[in-house]
Amino acid sequence: MNDCCQGSNILIYSCSGGSDVGEIADRTARKLGKEGFGKMTCLAAIGAHLPKFLESAQAADLNLTIDGCPVACARKNLEHIGVKPRSYILTEMGLVKGQTPVSEKIVEETAEKIKSGVTAPGGQGTGACSCSCC
Ligand code: SF4
Repeated sequence: MNDCCQGSNILIYSCSGGSDVGEIADRTARKLGKEGFGKMTCLAAIGAHLPKFLESAQAADLNLTIDGCPVACARKNLEHIGVKPRSYILTEMGLVKGQTPVSEKIVEETAEKIKSGVTAPGGQGTGACSCSCC
């Protein structure tokens, strides 16, 4: 996390898909939440257009989506309500859908990459802070 983001309101959404990369996305989001990097919240509530969740997304300093694959379900849920998240897509960070055994090690590595803003070329996380607090 960049220094400027300390104490800011960061919401984390995961696609939580049924595939291996979807599970890794979910577990990574939970890990980041438990570590205090941001607060994991409910993507399904965004899809259901529940007012309190829409308001929280619109008020956040940064909405961060973690998707397993380029279908980008989490990112698109946010875009459908007019919110542009900072998007991480695990297959653009080196994971292969259907061929990535889920392990604590891969979850830790993925969380570290997201925390340091590192993605492979072509990923939407640029390493530059994109929050609205600076
Ligand atoms: S982004 Fe990919 S892995 Fe995640 S729910 Fe959508 S299709 Fe499944």
